[in-house]
Amino acid sequence: MEKKSMYNDTFSHIYVEEDIKEHRRVKEILSKYSNSDIIYIKHYKDIFCRNGQNSFMQKKSKSLILAEKHGTKVYKGAIVCQNFGNENFYYTSCMMNCLYDCEYCYLQGMYSSSHVVVFVNIEDIFEEVKNMLKEHSVYLCTSYDTDMTAFESLTHYTKEWINFASNVYNNKLLIEIRTKCANENVWKENKANENIIVAFTISPDETIQLYEHKTPSLDSRLKCINTAIDNGYKVRLCFDPIIYSRDFEKKYKDFTDYVFSKVNADKIYDCSAGSFRISKEYMKIMRKNNESSVVINYPYENIEGYYQYPKEIQEKIKDISLNSIGKYLPKDKINYTEEF
Ligand code: SF4
Repeated sequence: MEKKSMYNDTFSHIYVEEDIKEHRRVKEILSKYSNSDIIYIKHYKDIFCRNGQNSFMQKKSKSLILAEKHGTKVYKGAIVCQNFGNENFYYTSCMMNCLYDCEYCYLQGMYSSSHVVVFVNIEDIFEEVKNMLKEHSVYLCTSYDTDMTAFESLTHYTKEWINFASNVYNNKLLIEIRTKCANENVWKENKANENIIVAFTISPDETIQLYEHKTPSLDSRLKCINTAIDNGYKVRLCFDPIIYSRDFEKKYKDFTDYVFSKVNADKIYDCSAGSFRISKEYMKIMRKNNESSVVINYPYENIEGYYQYPKEIQEKIKDISLNSIGKYLPKDKINYTEEF
């Protein structure tokens, strides 16, 4: 119920591509919004990419755009992202933008709009993945450019991916679903399978309160992690991005001790860690739109086109986080993203 009211507060306007107005999923989604204004459009880009938008202001009143995804739907993984040793690393986005509002989120630099686009033809993405699997194995991140699970009561896309993965290609397909969402029902109601990794991003409560606006608290996320584990899911803990702050060493040690006092380390599939990093092009836009943000306006160093912490801070973050997490998890389960 809480989520539904969040959507209703958020989406007072819903844009729908004319060509998909009879699509089953469009009808299902619209049935949840009796109070929203529905506007039919030719193409989602007419709204999402129009000139002169202020994406920062749009966050106060996001619209929903229902669209069809055309062209290539599955992409090669980017250089700053972890592949966890998996060959054939790909990602896909069945929606764009997020219900949450993390101050450091790269989406603010990537898109000129804060409106949320949902591509209703997820089955076409499945077909593309199936075709790829005829050629080679696929490691696929499905929650890129959004937090897919946060939209679960709207789209059921997490469920769709779990079902898809349960049906196809044992040992050839591995899907990562990354989320900050604490909706335990998703993991209770959908049967786990070997081809799914649920990757929960966790941060100290101070970071959540300062920068991860509208996201669940650390305790809620930890509770959800335990629910996913209890229901048989492979769980990845993502200590990423690590944000530096005063008294970092003590705070980070306390944080990891707390996490592993609540979560049984033996039941964790693996973990990722890495300090904050972002492309200079995205950061330029984010700084222009949010001049008062501490996390955005930190004096990062530009190394090969990516803003990141100065070398000595990077080293400190790496040592402290690896030592703190390494108290609980063996080295071969910790994937640290090296900066450039
Ligand atoms: S949850 Fe992820 S995608 Fe959503 S705003 Fe935060 S960083 Fe961005």
